[in-house]
Formats: sequence, structure tokens, C-alpha cells
Amino acid sequence: MKIAMIGSGYVGLVSGACFADFGHQVICVDKEKSKIDKLDNNIMPIYEPGLAGLVQRNVEAGRLSFSTNLGESVNDCDAVFIAVGTPSRRGDGHADLSYVYAAAEEIADAVTKPTVIVTKSTVPVGTGDEVELILSRKLPADQFAVVSNPEFLREGAAIDDFKRPDRIVIGAEVEWAKEVMSEIYRPLFLNQSPILFTGRRTAELIKYAANAFLATKITFINEIADLCENVGADVQEVSRGIGLDNRIGAKFLHAGPGYGGSCFPKDTLALLKTAQDNESPVRIVEAVVQVNDQRKRAMGRKVIQALGGEARDKKIALLGLTFKPNTDDMRDAPAIAIAQTLNDAGAQVVAYDPEGMAVASEIMPDVEMTESSYDAAKDADAVVIVTEWDAFRALDLEQLKATMAGDVLVDLRNIYHPADVAKTGLRYTSIGRNA
Ligand code: NAD
Repeated sequence: MKIAMIGSGYVGLVSGACFADFGHQVICVDKEKSKIDKLDNNIMPIYEPGLAGLVQRNVEAGRLSFSTNLGESVNDCDAVFIAVGTPSRRGDGHADLSYVYAAAEEIADAVTKPTVIVTKSTVPVGTGDEVELILSRKLPADQFAVVSNPEFLREGAAIDDFKRPDRIVIGAEVEWAKEVMSEIYRPLFLNQSPILFTGRRTAELIKYAANAFLATKITFINEIADLCENVGADVQEVSRGIGLDNRIGAKFLHAGPGYGGSCFPKDTLALLKTAQDNESPVRIVEAVVQVNDQRKRAMGRKVIQALGGEARDKKIALLGLTFKPNTDDMRDAPAIAIAQTLNDAGAQVVAYDPEGMAVASEIMPDVEMTESSYDAAKDADAVVIVTEWDAFRALDLEQLKATMAGDVLVDLRNIYHPADVAKTGLRYTSIGRNA
């Protein structure tokens, strides 16, 4: 199959490279010339484990190429995937669909044969209908079909998730489009990945319902963690105790500083807007959004409390800035709100992150970036583990303490055992376990 991927970001580039690896002919398009220039020189514009090798292999095999020219790329394709961003619209939290619609307009001008137009971007219910309307103004009805194929990959494990998905959701209204999509995903049929064919609106909603549910699970355990702190219970053991119940499941039950990233914050907000517009409130999700928003700054206050209630002129080192490990994605990372709270309280904030500092230094100008964990900890009054990168899991805590001016270690990911830390003389604060 001949495929064009519009948008070569975290989703478009990974999806495009994986489709090429399945044997399809793929062109990844992006309007940002610097991204395409990098890709043409085999430099990855994002950090995602395994991506560079996958891209290189498929470029060398002649199955994967890159372009800034959407028109030239989409004509003659069997399927054109839209994988552009759908951030929160400033002001009201609705998904900003301007990039999706702009891409649809450009596609409509360029398609020359019957083509399936697939929204892979996360888009609110009804967006496919709007994309169809845009295309129908310029193309005859038999020249195109609009399909929803939401993406569920996780940054940091994106390639594996794409190639071994829990399920593939395809929302299609016409038979020939289902056949094209089946052919595209045939290698995964062979892997026995479940493929769910639904109506287009249903597929669009599945993505939001999935993300809202996962955000709810995280927020639930975060509130239980707060309760644990107040009643002398241990949230790690509560998580294990409930997670072993098959009806609940152990995943997404790790208490922490609140969810962030490029999906959950904007997708929960967008679902709220869809629900309000359709007079069908989702009050649980409303509570989740509110609780999570408050939690990020509350984590900053937790650090201040660990310092004895005063952060002015204290030096605080953040270990980890990205919203999770194994990505350079800083979108809506809890570290941003935590650093802001500490800066507001008069602290000097320094940080180290294995991959996120290039982006972070642009959006966190008041935070000084350093070369390593120990570099960050030098003369610090407190060290705060914000993201659970592997590099922070086995720190030499005695060396860390010797480097610091103070003795406070705040572990917002519970990656250390309180008893181990106690031996080093560090004063340890974690989440939901009275330590
Ligand atoms: P991203 O910002 O990393 O990438 C989007 C890319 O699209 C950018 O490089 C941008 O330059 C490009 N673009 C925008 N308009 C264009 C146009 N008209 N022509 C060509 N290129 C254009 O975004 P992302 O993280 O890859 O997310 C894309 C979509 O996938 C979003 O809707 C997101 O919600 C969804 N999604 C993301 C993830 C994730 O983990 N990042 C997972 C599942 C779904």
C-alpha cells in the first residue's frame, strides 16, 4: 500500500516508520522544514527509543521518505493519515482542530484517485463528519472515504506499542475503506492483534473514553495516597492489594505527582467540552481534571513542607523534568508547575533530565540546567525526584548527600525504600507512605 502520513511528530513519525517496516511504501510529511531536514540527514527530531534504527533501516530499504510538500506526497496514495497536533484551544479547553482541518483542505486539493483519509490524531466526536464535508466540497463522493483510526501508543514504548497493540480501532462507514484499512494492518492481523471495526463517531469516542479512564485511575490512586499519609497506611501496598484483583488490574495505580504529558491533560479537557456541548456531563472526569490540576502545585508545597515550611533562598534540585521517562516530551509535565511553585516561594531551582533539558530550558527559563544528577545536587538543600528515569533508580545516596548542603530527599515516584534511605542519613519524603 502507498501511504502518506501528514505530521511527523511523536505519532506520525513512529506510525509512518512502523507502516514502512510492515512493507508499505510511506512518505512522512511535515510543514516544519527543520524536522524534514533532520530526517533527511538521519537525525531524529524527537527522542524515542529504537526510532533512529527503525527509520534508517526503512529509508535504506527505499520504503520510507520525507517531504514538506503535502500536495506532491498525497496524490497517488491508497491512504492518507492525518497525524497533526490537536492541542487544547486557548481559552476554552476544546481541542484545537485547526491543524486537522487545514490538512484536510490541502489533501482535498491534491487527491487524484480514490483515497482513504484517516484521522489518527485524537479528535472529538464529529470531527470525521467535518473532514468529510471539507473533502466533499472539492472531491466527488467516490474519490474518498473518511476513517477514524485513533492511536494508543505510549511515548517511550511507542514502537512496541504500535507493532503489538492491545487493539486497533477502525471507525469506517464504507466497505471499500474497511478493506484498505485491513490491508494496511494485515501484518498485525497475522500477529493476532484484535481489530475492532466500529462506526466513525464511536471510534473517535473510544480514544477519549480510554484516556479519561486511565487519567481517572491515576487520580484515584493519588487521592488514596493522600489518605494513606493521613491515616498511616502505605499506598504501595494498597496499590498491590487492589491491583491483584483482576477486575481492577495493577497498571496505572502508581501514585505520583499527577498526570501530565501530551495527551491526558488536553484529552480530558476536550472530553469535558464535548460532554457539556452535548448536555451529557461527565462529572467524574470533571473531578479528575480539577484534582489533578491542584495536585501539581501541591507537590511543590510538599517539597517546601519537607524543607520545614520555608523555601526562600534554598537551592532545590529537580531530577527529571519530562512527564515520564524515555521521552523528551515536556508538554504539561508536572515538573513545570512544581518548579514554578518553588520559584514563586523564592527558591533557586536547578535540574537535570537525561533527554528533556533542551526543550525544558525554553519553557522553564528560571530553572538552571545541569550536567548530571550529582551536579544538580551540588550544594542543594533538597533533591526532588520528579520523573522515574532509570538513571535515578540507583543513585549513590551517600555520594548524593555528601554533595548536598542539606539533607532532604523528596521522592515523588516512590522509587526508593524508606528504610534504605534512612541508613544514609537523608530525610526522606515520598508519596502516600508516611516517609
Ligand atoms: P506533534 O506535535 O509531535 O506532531 C504533530 C506534527 O504535525 C508537527 O510536527 C507539526 O509540524 C505537523 N503538522 C501540523 N500541521 C501540519 C500540516 N498541515 N502539514 C504537515 N504537517 C503538519 O504531535 P503528536 O504528539 O505526534 O500528536 C499528534 C496527534 O496524535 C494528537 O492528536 C495527539 O493527541 C495524538 N496522540 C498522541 C500520542 C502521543 O503519545 N504523543 C499518542 C496517541 C495519540
